[in-house]
Amino acid sequence: MNSVLLVVFDGLRPDLIRSDVTPNLVRFSAMGTRMPKARSVFPSETRVCTTSVATGCYPRGHGLVANTMFHPLDPSRRVETGKAEQLRALEQDTGRAVIERPGLSDLLAAAGQDFAVFSSGSTGQTFCLAPRAEALGQIVVSAHGPQACTEAGRAVLARIEPPPTAPAARAVWIADAWRRTMLAAPPAASVLWLCEPDTSAHYEGLDSPGNREALRAADAAFGRILDDWSEGGQADWLQIIVASDHGHVTIDGMIDLRARLAVPELVGCEIVGGSSGAIHVPGAPADRIGEVAGFLMRQDWIANVLTAETVDAPNGALPQGAALVDHARTGHVLYTLRNGAGEGPTGAVGTSLIDSAAGLAVGAGTHGGLNAREMATVLMLAGSRIRPGAISNWPAGLVDIAPTILALLGVAGAVSMDGRVLGEALEDGSEPVDSRGPESWEASSGRPGGYAQRIARMRVGRHVWIDEGVRT
Ligand SMILES: [Zn+2]
Repeated sequence: MNSVLLVVFDGLRPDLIRSDVTPNLVRFSAMGTRMPKARSVFPSETRVCTTSVATGCYPRGHGLVANTMFHPLDPSRRVETGKAEQLRALEQDTGRAVIERPGLSDLLAAAGQDFAVFSSGSTGQTFCLAPRAEALGQIVVSAHGPQACTEAGRAVLARIEPPPTAPAARAVWIADAWRRTMLAAPPAASVLWLCEPDTSAHYEGLDSPGNREALRAADAAFGRILDDWSEGGQADWLQIIVASDHGHVTIDGMIDLRARLAVPELVGCEIVGGSSGAIHVPGAPADRIGEVAGFLMRQDWIANVLTAETVDAPNGALPQGAALVDHARTGHVLYTLRNGAGEGPTGAVGTSLIDSAAGLAVGAGTHGGLNAREMATVLMLAGSRIRPGAISNWPAGLVDIAPTILALLGVAGAVSMDGRVLGEALEDGSEPVDSRGPESWEASSGRPGGYAQRIARMRVGRHVWIDEGVRT
């Protein structure tokens, strides 16, 4: 028997793993190999991250380039990727798959191995983990109820009590559901996605009492899986990977983005806001893209500015390829709002402005940008085939999870992914043979005291990870 369970704690910052809140994650971290250099993708938004976990690819490859995307046939329309029905409608409209790379679901099905998804995330988030699960006969159980499950998932759902409605309770319910229905005879690979501590961080604040309570409950549910795993003998053949998809920063101010962008340079443009966002320039002429980017770079509330146009981009703009997000669906100009290393109300480091239309409050948590605290993620592995008590200082990230799961299961497909097999964490693996080193993408207006920005990356051979983006 040979099996892998991936448990994702949505939005969990590595520094929130503490013995007073997450004793089971602390226990787990000492069992196997921990990857303290693990990083998210940009934009550090849940559906973008989810798709990178599932496909082992960056957004430039998988094409789910933002939580809210411009509709490719009509940029005045938005595709809200949290809603599975909107992703299915987009596939109908365009006649092609929204996620452009095969994921764990497809590759395992092709290899004749079974795969299951249990998620308390949004229906769109669950779709991104296994878009063809229904046709492939795979189990998808969603805490949003039967309509969000596959037929095989509904058969599982019928055996347990119905899901609760509160997000924190749903995270516990989905973890217990996997433990009670799957652990005794798990599929080759399972993804268990917990919507906490993300939801409580957004609405109650990062490391707030409510956030800690939700995380404590999710950790306890994970602890019950760990207990049954070690006591039931599954530890001999079921490997467990624990990850988060992105971090969080505290909102320290509001920008009325619509009002700020009501300027001549942006007339006719379509705008997606947040703490990072995108601008669609009608017709995409290079000079207009340059004007939009130039306007943004003159604003003190803007951090990074990335353009689709490299030839005529104004001095100071970086190409979207620097953040691995260059794709036909990406807006012509991407931006992050001003962010930094200040402290939130509970002392958690990392702050950002946000668009006032995002519906979140000052003091609450957010993510989506390139702040180091948004990009740093949890990644650790344990089990009979994982090196015990190890810490790897090799760069790693979301894109390495799928290749490593495939390697553990002996299934092909990892070589066409952006990520690498985390060989240094495996008992039968080895450290990368390629050299590693930092990379820096820098751009400046050229004027003394003018706009300048940098994106720091880490590289090992052909593999690359984004460390952070800053306005310098
Ligand atoms: Zn998330």
